Amino acid sequence: MKREINLINTYSERFGKYEVELPNYCPWCKSKISPNILSQTPIDTSNREWPISFTLQCPSCHKHFLQTYKPEIAGNSALLNLEIDNEKPMPETLFEYPSEIDKISKEFNNIITQSSNAEDLGYDHLAGIGYRKAIEFLVKDYLIEFKNEDRDSISSKLLSQCIKSIDDERIQNLAKAASWIGNDETHYIRKHIDKDIQDLKSFLHTLTSLVSFEIQISKAEDFINNN
Ligand SMILES: [Zn+2]
Repeated sequence: MKREINLINTYSERFGKYEVELPNYCPWCKSKISPNILSQTPIDTSNREWPISFTLQCPSCHKHFLQTYKPEIAGNSALLNLEIDNEKPMPETLFEYPSEIDKISKEFNNIITQSSNAEDLGYDHLAGIGYRKAIEFLVKDYLIEFKNEDRDSISSKLLSQCIKSIDDERIQNLAKAASWIGNDETHYIRKHIDKDIQDLKSFLHTLTSLVSFEIQISKAEDFINNN
């Protein structure tokens, strides 16, 4: 829904009337609304990339919300367009790991970022399932990309069978411990009641470190053998 609004600039001057597209939906009570405009951040013609925002109020539930726009300002300071900007800040990723992992697993980063974001937003059930999936991708990609095992065979095997085929006992045990807790996150009955998602992350974190060590050591050996 468009509404003609008297915009202001940074000098608190009237900037002119513009047809502005306003949201017609309340993010709080989900009603279809025509929001009240409580305030506007000024248009800054010397910083043309800066956003402007309206504080809006729902006439139904009376709660406030913000709508941001990207202005398009011409050389003569005329406002050409106000484009709705619904971008939102993402939560900080809580799980850090060595960059070598990204070289053997393309999906690990996506899965761990989504899981970590879910955890930060309080979606602990989804986070648990996500971390379990991250273990599976790390283990399978490690065997396929680093140990040169057959892709089709590893892809279709159960995670527990893949873990058994890891030759380094320390990596195998870390993956096993993390996956046991991970399985508890996906099943109805929890087998290991004294362990939780933080223990899973701790094992997974050490697992990424050890896999990264192995990658680095292998690079050093290749380097020495070739000289
Ligand atoms: Zn409302």
